[in-house]
Amino acid sequence: MAQEDVFKKLVAHCKEYGFVFQSSEIYDGLGAVYDYGQNGVELKNNIKKYWWDSMVLLHENVVGIDSAIFMHPTIWKASGHVDAFNDPLIDNKDSKKRYRADVLIEEQLAKFEDKIEKEIEKASKRFGDSFDEKQFRETNARVLENQQKWDELKARFVKALNDSDLDEVKQIIIDQEIVCPVSGTRNWTDVRQFNLMFSTDMGSTADGALKIYLRPETAQGIFVNYLNVQKTGRMKIPFGIAQIGKAFRNEIVARQFIFRMREFEQMELQFFVRPGSELDWFQKWKQTRMNWHQALGFGKENYRFHEHDKLAHYANAAVDVEYRFPFGFKEVEGIHSRTDFDLTQHQQFSGKKIQYFDPELNESYVPFVVETSIGVDRMFLQIMAASYAEEEIVSEDGKKDIRVVLRIPAPLAPVKLAVLPLMKKDGLAEKAREIIDELKFDFNCQYDEKDSIGKRYRRQDAIGTPFCVTVDHITLEDHTVTIRYRDSMLQDRIAISELKARISGEVTMKKLFAEL
Ligand code: ATP
Repeated sequence: MAQEDVFKKLVAHCKEYGFVFQSSEIYDGLGAVYDYGQNGVELKNNIKKYWWDSMVLLHENVVGIDSAIFMHPTIWKASGHVDAFNDPLIDNKDSKKRYRADVLIEEQLAKFEDKIEKEIEKASKRFGDSFDEKQFRETNARVLENQQKWDELKARFVKALNDSDLDEVKQIIIDQEIVCPVSGTRNWTDVRQFNLMFSTDMGSTADGALKIYLRPETAQGIFVNYLNVQKTGRMKIPFGIAQIGKAFRNEIVARQFIFRMREFEQMELQFFVRPGSELDWFQKWKQTRMNWHQALGFGKENYRFHEHDKLAHYANAAVDVEYRFPFGFKEVEGIHSRTDFDLTQHQQFSGKKIQYFDPELNESYVPFVVETSIGVDRMFLQIMAASYAEEEIVSEDGKKDIRVVLRIPAPLAPVKLAVLPLMKKDGLAEKAREIIDELKFDFNCQYDEKDSIGKRYRRQDAIGTPFCVTVDHITLEDHTVTIRYRDSMLQDRIAISELKARISGEVTMKKLFAEL
């Protein structure tokens, strides 16, 4: 199946099975704003727990906070967001569609990469085991030609970004003959900067109202609480502050489902370290975060690091963790060495001393910061994309059938156990309810008595439930049930009294933590 079709199906699946809905749908929706449904909210909460516990429970020197979305407006002046939180935008005059100029060029680069990958794939099929990819890359004319185009474009693009040369960015789009995907024309406006922050007014009178911003990142809430937490928690450097919360960005292009939203949620860690040690900590957190992603078991080959071409004004090192989405490798998480930029700025703008007295060095300094920042929603999409599978199976009546299954890692699955009475009568429904009543305090259980068992299994597969238990007449005699495993579809007969241990062992977060 073409990857674009996979993505379309995934979006439809998210809606059909109560994971994600368009916000304000009955009013035709609101651009790039989404709501989570009954299954989506469970998955989202589990993702947050996986992140929070891996940070706060597993690191003695990491604590959490929950700061307000509204903050003093000077914070955003100090952080540089008022002046520099911009994206370069360009409009197509014919379609009136708006694009991020940098993304148009990145997509052009990805086209050259795709061409190279296709050549390699073809050759690898042709030559089989004797295929030498390295040699092929170094000698094949078509690969070399595309690689050269990629290198030239990349160098020009990076220079334009670093020089903040918007005319040159436009010239690249013209020279590369990039067309608007909607109108098909090259009738572009100039490139200009667009600030991504939303603002609103606080206060009841027009005169006294204060213009405030909806935070575009949760990080600043941590920085301005650095002293509070360090002092009241008697924290010693190195230490970290973790936070999960909403962030808002008036994104220029909002056509990628929950990949790019205007209201989204971030999970951020700011880790405070001694000046000079930040790049070592940057390397450590880079690895820790990659391990966290890979522990989910979606295949190491589907992740990669991407070094930033242009460092943000506050960073001295930056890398993204990218995942191979159906629409290509894309950022899921950013890891930045933010230097002492933010704390120094807040020190200056607030006039309060923000320093740490290091008893080992017997001196005070402004700590340096390493940040790990991941979007909950983007992580959600990554898990859905990685879990979604369509499989050919043979149904009960011997016919070939397709089952859609979400292979969500069991600790993250919205529902852990479905209990299905074979029929409603003969006391089977009551027995099923009894089982749920016993297990519902340990994990999320669902009761379903409608339709054939086969159809009920399909429904649970489609939401990623790892275990289904069927209650039949034998259950009433010997207190055993059939347990069916989502991934293998194998079935076992086990005692009701064994259920809790069998399921708990698989759905506990400890299972993921053991991989870290
Ligand atoms: P991009 O280059 O995709 O715009 P960014 O580099 O601006 O992202 P960061 O500021 O580093 O992103 O934010 C950290 C993380 O927050 C990202 O890795 C992503 O997971 C998430 N994120 C950022 N913007 C959005 C958004 N508009 N919608 C959903 N998640 C987002």
